[in-house]
Amino acid sequence: MKRLFSFLRRGFCALACLLALAPCAGARAAEAAPASAGEFRVLATTFPVWLFTRNVCHEVNGVRVELFVPAQTGCPHEFTPSPADLRKLAAAQAIVINGLGLEAFLSQPLRTLDKEHAVIDASRGTDPLPAPAEAGHGHDDGHDHAHDHGAPGINPHIFAGPAQAALMARAIGEGLARLDPPHAEAYRANAAAFAARLEGLAGPLAAIGKAAPHKGIVLQHDDLAYLAHEASLETLAVLRAGDENSALSASQLNSLTRRLKAEAPVLIAGEPPAPDRAVELLSVESGVPFALLDPVASGPADAPLDYYERAMRANAETLRRYFDVP
Ligand SMILES: [Zn+2]
Repeated sequence: MKRLFSFLRRGFCALACLLALAPCAGARAAEAAPASAGEFRVLATTFPVWLFTRNVCHEVNGVRVELFVPAQTGCPHEFTPSPADLRKLAAAQAIVINGLGLEAFLSQPLRTLDKEHAVIDASRGTDPLPAPAEAGHGHDDGHDHAHDHGAPGINPHIFAGPAQAALMARAIGEGLARLDPPHAEAYRANAAAFAARLEGLAGPLAAIGKAAPHKGIVLQHDDLAYLAHEASLETLAVLRAGDENSALSASQLNSLTRRLKAEAPVLIAGEPPAPDRAVELLSVESGVPFALLDPVASGPADAPLDYYERAMRANAETLRRYFDVP
């Protein structure tokens, strides 16, 4: 909670700076991100939402899509907007969010800037999974994860499964059609084409778990729960839901090792760029192999338009190899 307050306070300071600078806001906004007249400015909060939004806006005239939280950041658990970020927010005509509480840091600035009407919630119409039980740390550790990690009881990482991503693409298309009616048809057509490509990935992914002789998987973080679910696999444990930076204690590692030896999952899934130390330790102790799966929570700032599709195809290949599916 203390962390939440200090981060809200920093947000307020940044906002106060922004309002104090209002007389020269024009010049400062131009310095933050030069815009040409008549441009429709779309701001996407996180890397995957930005990838989807760029596909929906592809070749639509006069539309500029920007990313809010830096591409390498991943989930914005601890993100604090700077004054420059808040100017970007003020200049945006559409703000595309993941939703489900992932962007809790934005609620106050959006209210203060009177920008709530410009928000497109990409989670609209999706089918979220419940937040998994935490194998890494229980609810007795004093942490208040819900406050910095999504709505209580809900796993907010809907982007990490292509079937949910397809629903997000359609929600983004509808939202942009509402806010920029002259280009409504183009947004809807792009969203439908992109969603169809994502749905094309979902079918083969779902077939993996159905064909696999054993379906158990252990996940480093709860974002991979969507990928595992869409691959029809059984998630036996999630090492850490919420805060990626907490470590497993020796006794937690021991009890997990015992469980893994008894339940014999096929794979422990870590996340790029490198597996968590707990993933490696658990793999050594239990004899269950580990591999990297990419939830596409983060990526390169110059990611190509089909970055998500490539990552999901690579994930499917990895799963087929370990789960012994031709
Ligand atoms: Zn996360």
